[in-house]
Amino acid sequence: MEPSEQRIKIAVQKTGRLTDHSIDLLERCGLKLTRSKDQLICYGENMPIDLLLVRDDDIPGLVGEDICDLGIVGLNVVEEKRLNRAAEGRAIEFKQIYELDFGHCRLALAAPDGTEYNGPESLEKTRIATSYTGLLKHFLEENRVDAEPVYFSGAVEIAPKLGRADFICDIVSTGGTLKANGLVEVDTLLQSEAVVIQTQQPLGEAKQALVDKILQRLDGVLQVRESKYIMLHAPKDALAEIHALLPGSEAPTVLRLDGDDDKVAVHAVCRENVFWDTLENLKAAGASSLLVLPVEKMLA
Ligand code: ATP
Ligand code: ZN
Repeated sequence: MEPSEQRIKIAVQKTGRLTDHSIDLLERCGLKLTRSKDQLICYGENMPIDLLLVRDDDIPGLVGEDICDLGIVGLNVVEEKRLNRAAEGRAIEFKQIYELDFGHCRLALAAPDGTEYNGPESLEKTRIATSYTGLLKHFLEENRVDAEPVYFSGAVEIAPKLGRADFICDIVSTGGTLKANGLVEVDTLLQSEAVVIQTQQPLGEAKQALVDKILQRLDGVLQVRESKYIMLHAPKDALAEIHALLPGSEAPTVLRLDGDDDKVAVHAVCRENVFWDTLENLKAAGASSLLVLPVEKMLA
């Protein structure tokens, strides 16, 4: 095994909404992992990459302080940390390098059903419960609104019922928690997803090359998730129409069919999922012998 300073350390959430997705993505990039007995580290067996399993709130700090080289964390946590550091007059020591297309959620404003809201000016002189004081203050300043953020470390949604706040500002994905508490979403402060952050410190050539390789593999992994390989037979005179119906495909391969001069075989990678109605439309356009296959790996 390489000396520890030559191994890449990635901070990943220990237990939570991002954990399984983060580890699964890295495994799909070819990383074989074993967990330490105390469950705090995953060692990479086949690449010099180890994962540190930590609370998500600690991830920007660990990367910023150069304890970890990379981190996988929600953009909401990254932006909150960035604004808090800026408010203290400190620089941010990590950079966002990749969007991972999972952990989608938004930082939203919500209020008890029936509350009047006609834009940020409706927040004037109200109290807003949140654990995201940095992002909330930024939003209030941008909109020149004077309102009072009330810090809650969790269970923000009960603040209005307790009479502690008029509005709440919290992370929402489906909106189920809001509804269960009689709250209605009125505005969005930030759209979030899981992102990769990297330390601002130079990594050195070997480590940076490995980071670049992982990012390229991530590209492939994210692309194939939706991609399908489609094969069909098409009348030659319907080729243009059929090509136009193939979702997210560039140049399809067109092959001669033995003993049939009117039809050709068309093979294409579709970078979007292929649904039944697409197949039915292709059939209506003259396609036959349609076959859709999953794509295992892709390298552009
Ligand atoms: P930790 O113990 O690591 O501090 P946590 O309770 O702060 O965990 P989770 O609830 O596991 O964090 O959420 C982690 C991230 O998942 C959030 O920061 C956010 O980016 C994303 N996320 C996606 N959907 C939701 C949601 N409905 N509620 C909260 N977070 C969500
Ligand atoms: Zn957290």
